Amino acid sequence: MIDCMNLSRRGFVKATGLALLASQVQKTYAQRDLFPDGNMTVFEKRSNVSFKLDDLMPAKYERFKGILSLDCYIGETGTEFFKLHFEEIVNRMERFFSDVGIKTNVTKVRRKLHRYTSATSMGVELISPEDFDKRMSDLHIPIRAEKFSGFYGGAQRMAFCRYGKEYKNPMIAAKLATHEILHGFSLLHPDAFVGMEEDGSVMSRAPTEEQTFNLNLPIGQKLADRQIGQLHSFLRKGNPYWAFLKANYDSNSLAIEVAKASGLSLNTSSMNK
Ligand SMILES: [Zn+2]
Repeated sequence: MIDCMNLSRRGFVKATGLALLASQVQKTYAQRDLFPDGNMTVFEKRSNVSFKLDDLMPAKYERFKGILSLDCYIGETGTEFFKLHFEEIVNRMERFFSDVGIKTNVTKVRRKLHRYTSATSMGVELISPEDFDKRMSDLHIPIRAEKFSGFYGGAQRMAFCRYGKEYKNPMIAAKLATHEILHGFSLLHPDAFVGMEEDGSVMSRAPTEEQTFNLNLPIGQKLADRQIGQLHSFLRKGNPYWAFLKANYDSNSLAIEVAKASGLSLNTSSMNK
């Protein structure tokens, strides 16, 4: 687990530097001078980042064999549902990832999350509407909060679940949390581009009440095969990881670049969720 109690500010500064440098640096070298805390960051060689859809969602991929780390923070007030069902929500998320061949290590953390920069870790805050509003304001995220049951903040690379009527049971809560977390691993909505359809998968953006859930599945829905490939490649620090880093971990920026590189048009209504 990353020590999120002490690293948040430094981590953010480092991450900002990383994103800037990664787009400029073409060769492998160490950046000792930039980080006087003694942590050495090595930029791996990556001069051929591709934003083409086929390179973002590879049909063929090597399986990620490590462990995906997930931090979960539960807000102090207005979060009885999350506290009561936490174990089941986590268990369902773990089973979902296991079904797509990925081992997870979920940690309940006691402090609010920080920006994530590792290819293999992400975090989600499970919070009340009041705390969600405050968090968005503190992080300078200009959104109309009442529209959202969850949110992925690209500049922060963090996921948030905003408690509300959509959270009918632990399965749906696990799905909503997983959806936002997967945005942090570069996954886009299935209908991100014109001509592509909603698919009823975990990454579908349809309102919860319009979605179908299969009670035999851990989080009620599956992930499309190409998105499973994208996830494994990302975790292995393959092309999707570098493309997302170049897009500063922002789903909308990534979608814009992919559209440009692939001759696609953006489905603008699919963005920002
Ligand atoms: Zn979404």
